[in-house]
Amino acid sequence: MSASSLIPTTEPRFQVPDVHGRFGQFGGMYVPETLMTPLLDLTKAYDEARRDPAFQKAYADMLVEYAGRPTGLYYAEALTKHCGGSKIYLKREDMLHTGAHKINNVIGQALLAVRMGKKRIIAETGAGQHGTATAAVCARFGLKCVIYMGATDMERQALNVYRMRLMGAEVRGVEAGQRTLKEAVNEAMRDWVTNVRDTHYILGTAYGSHPYPMMVRDFHRIISLESKQQMIRAEDRLPDTVVACVGGGSNAIGSFFEYLDEPGVQLIGVEAGGRAIKTGEHAARFAGGRLGVLQGCMTHILQDGEGQIEGTHSVSAGLDYAAVGPEHAYYHDKGRIEFAYANDQECLDAFQLLSRTEGIIPALESSHAIAHGCKVAADGPRTNIVLINLSGRGDKDVWSAARAMGVEIKL
Ligand SMILES: *Cc1c(COP(=O)(O)O)cnc(C)c1O
Repeated sequence: MSASSLIPTTEPRFQVPDVHGRFGQFGGMYVPETLMTPLLDLTKAYDEARRDPAFQKAYADMLVEYAGRPTGLYYAEALTKHCGGSKIYLKREDMLHTGAHKINNVIGQALLAVRMGKKRIIAETGAGQHGTATAAVCARFGLKCVIYMGATDMERQALNVYRMRLMGAEVRGVEAGQRTLKEAVNEAMRDWVTNVRDTHYILGTAYGSHPYPMMVRDFHRIISLESKQQMIRAEDRLPDTVVACVGGGSNAIGSFFEYLDEPGVQLIGVEAGGRAIKTGEHAARFAGGRLGVLQGCMTHILQDGEGQIEGTHSVSAGLDYAAVGPEHAYYHDKGRIEFAYANDQECLDAFQLLSRTEGIIPALESSHAIAHGCKVAADGPRTNIVLINLSGRGDKDVWSAARAMGVEIKL
């Protein structure tokens, strides 16, 4: 693949968002006035960067040499046999440096920050995966790095907190509200307003104000660029279905993107069903959300009658967020991307299933996609192909998964 083809802008699929960052009625720039200038500066800088072959080459080289791309496309024969039905392939984003797809986006944004002359990076993190990827890349580029993380998440993901600190990042705990991702994003935005002159905010998913949903999507597009070529090489055809889990939506939009204009390919996003589809017990925005504005963009949001954001729950911290990326809301309403959910128990079952059948421990987030992908395969003919995006590895989750399954790990 030529480096300059990574982020072209002329194809029809790139016509959303429009110049105002709108995906139909979704997206936009719903931010305080003080953030408008930095966001417009960022939009302009990104637009120039992606037209610059030197930037494209630096990004492509880092993906190969630092992140470990391309990731494999793996025929999961034992999982296929277990589920019974269609052939299951896994796109192995779990093999990337720092353990998940997140590094694709962080590399792109860090290169952009360097290009813009920023010396300091801030980021939010939920499960700690985005914070870990950001800390790693900042260490590599010699950038000062501050990570905001909810205090509850810091307890749930203590290992990732240590990892970030080991790589030189400062991790700041956030005690407000539910003490999770939403509050960490608020703190990061507050920091950015204050320090915007020397600071770039590396947002971790395809969410927030324009240009983030577009930019993060573009940096993850590599997933489907690769999988499409790999699938044609392996099977001489495209998959019938692509399945990915959806938190903010970055691994999903990256793994769907090149298939959006292939009408024969079904695209399914899997949200967190939590304990039950009841207020405060889940994070399935398409199962209980309504149109609203949160943290920079208009989208489907879990909220009460007064527009107050509802509490969420998922066994996986990375899917535990009240709103979904605007591009997913757009394609949901167009009927191009379907949405399903897997509950906590189905997730934990899939976590064990993939470990036992294939010797691959998936992230709890990715386990949602495995759970639903297995169902789709079971219902499909043997001649069909289901491609599941394995967004990350489960090493980080072993502790909390064991606890959720009633096992105490004693050290
Ligand atoms: C963060 C994370 C997710 C959820 O984020 P998206 O932006 O929706 O992809 C999913 N899987 C893994 C492994 C993650 O670390």
